[in-house]
Amino acid sequence: MAEKKLNVILLRHTNNSEELVALAAKLCYSPATIEDLKKKIESQDQVKFIEKLAEMGHHSPLEHAYFTFGVEGISRACSHQLVRHRIASYSQQSQRYVDEHSGKHGGVFDYIIPPSIVKCGLKEKFEKLMEDIQDNYDEFYLAIKKVKVEGEKTAAEDARYVLPNAAETKIIITMNARELIDSFFKLRTCQRAQWEIRAMATEMLKLAFGVAPNLFKNAGPSCLQGPCPEKKMCCGKLKEVRAEFKKLKKEVLASKK
Ligand SMILES: Cc1cc2nc3c(=O)[nH]c(=O)nc-3n(C[C@H](O)[C@H](O)[C@H](O)COP(=O)(O)OP(=O)(O)OC[C@H]3O[C@@H](n4cnc5c(N)ncnc54)[C@H](O)[C@@H]3O)c2cc1C
Repeated sequence: MAEKKLNVILLRHTNNSEELVALAAKLCYSPATIEDLKKKIESQDQVKFIEKLAEMGHHSPLEHAYFTFGVEGISRACSHQLVRHRIASYSQQSQRYVDEHSGKHGGVFDYIIPPSIVKCGLKEKFEKLMEDIQDNYDEFYLAIKKVKVEGEKTAAEDARYVLPNAAETKIIITMNARELIDSFFKLRTCQRAQWEIRAMATEMLKLAFGVAPNLFKNAGPSCLQGPCPEKKMCCGKLKEVRAEFKKLKKEVLASKK
């Protein structure tokens, strides 16, 4: 137990999501029955239909496609940013019910070290601080256990107040393709987002693109599609960012062959 690294897994996704999105969109403009449409959609060029939706700004059919990710090795600071995205479902490991007493895991609780702290040569100081926090947690945990009515069962819920933003967490996230493309990826794969949530969002994008390349073809920061909306806060790296996401998607496609 101690330093943890990011791990993102695509747990589930809507089967044939591109076909489903195309079917939902086609239904809006056709007098045919759903069974007839289904037959037509199967043999139709779904790619062109999905592209047309994006051009028209008709994004609601994307809401039928769901993606569920398992994420571990992120900090509580990162998960707090994540759960601000409201059009989603979350299940997060609880610090009330999963206690961090060193007697339970035999060491220091898991945590994330920001790369900048390693770069500035303060990694050891940071690790020592985590050990000190663990010692404090244990002290509070044992003391609270004695005074709480339900003792051990509830000591963790108050002892956790001494844990840092760096504490590692695990979370399962479900978002639909519209939320992923129109909000989450636009904001969180952008250079303005913090390094940790950016890395997580980029991994999520790679996984979603891997199973639905036509839906996520243009997904990424806003500047992949047009000018940067960040104005004064613009990173000024439009060309580099576009090249980065082009390369990343090319690599995902190559890995599927
Ligand atoms: C670089 C950066 C810096 C940030 N800094 C701060 C900060 O300093 N302080 C802070 O508090 N937050 C900050 N945030 C978080 C930000 O304000 C949003 O809470 C977060 O990005 C989620 O965005 P959202 O609300 O658009 O997304 P979602 O909650 O995923 O919503 C998606 C879209 O649905 C619509 N929507 C959802 N809920 C409603 C609603 N209730 N009413 C109307 N429309 C709705 C909106 O169109 C919204 O864009 C920051 C985010 C970024 C990317």
